[in-house]
Amino acid sequence: MDCPESLRTQAYFDGELDASSSLEIERHLGRCPSCRGRLQDLEHVRTMTRQIPSEPAPTALREQIDRILEREDRAARASRSVSERTRWRWNPFWTGAFSGVAASAVVALIAVPAMSPSVSDTLLHDLTVDQVRSLMPSHLIDVVSTDQHTVKPWFAGHTDVSPVVADFERDGYRLIGGRADYLGGQRSAVVVYQHGRHVINVFAWLASKTLLPTDTTRSGYHMTFWRAGDLDYCAVSDTSWQELRALKQLLRTSAQAG
Ligand SMILES: [Zn+2]
Repeated sequence: MDCPESLRTQAYFDGELDASSSLEIERHLGRCPSCRGRLQDLEHVRTMTRQIPSEPAPTALREQIDRILEREDRAARASRSVSERTRWRWNPFWTGAFSGVAASAVVALIAVPAMSPSVSDTLLHDLTVDQVRSLMPSHLIDVVSTDQHTVKPWFAGHTDVSPVVADFERDGYRLIGGRADYLGGQRSAVVVYQHGRHVINVFAWLASKTLLPTDTTRSGYHMTFWRAGDLDYCAVSDTSWQELRALKQLLRTSAQAG
């Protein structure tokens, strides 16, 4: 059974809660592994979608989606559903239409203008979530723990890398868990930190010969890269640059200390 707060957790993620409700949910997240997991899943999907290079969607697909959206929009207006937000449902037609479509094309649709806002927001959100989720069958295998001695060994069994895992709660960066991700052809590790109300994902993968990208911001998400030992790291978050780089520094120091 879903936790009764799971809807508010989703709203919290979407930035739809006022300050006092946000605070309530933050407290709730502290004691509800189910909602914490849900939030991590959402953050995870959002982070991954930010990293998918965007390519223009094929015209035929775009037109097809436009037509369906218009139809959905008309239907929604006609029947004024009970729920304020029109939920968009996956149906066999869509499954067929999208089974062969690259995630990048789907994500690129976010930039397609002239969609009606309420339907398209939900549609694109669900599309993106479902599409990306489908590309990562193992993404639900999560380890929720604030203990580095639990998270670190978990990576050994689930990923190809053994990243630095440390809790920096004293410095305001609380370890909340880990995750396995398929990144660049390998099972990479993601260490997840909470900093205030922000989640910071620290991706780690086997270093390649290519140069790391320079630090960048994509759709409001800062990404900072570094190399330590035989691993490449990238910390991703919507927290400030200063706060993100402070965690990077802590992790580098930790790596040097062995
Ligand atoms: Zn809950």
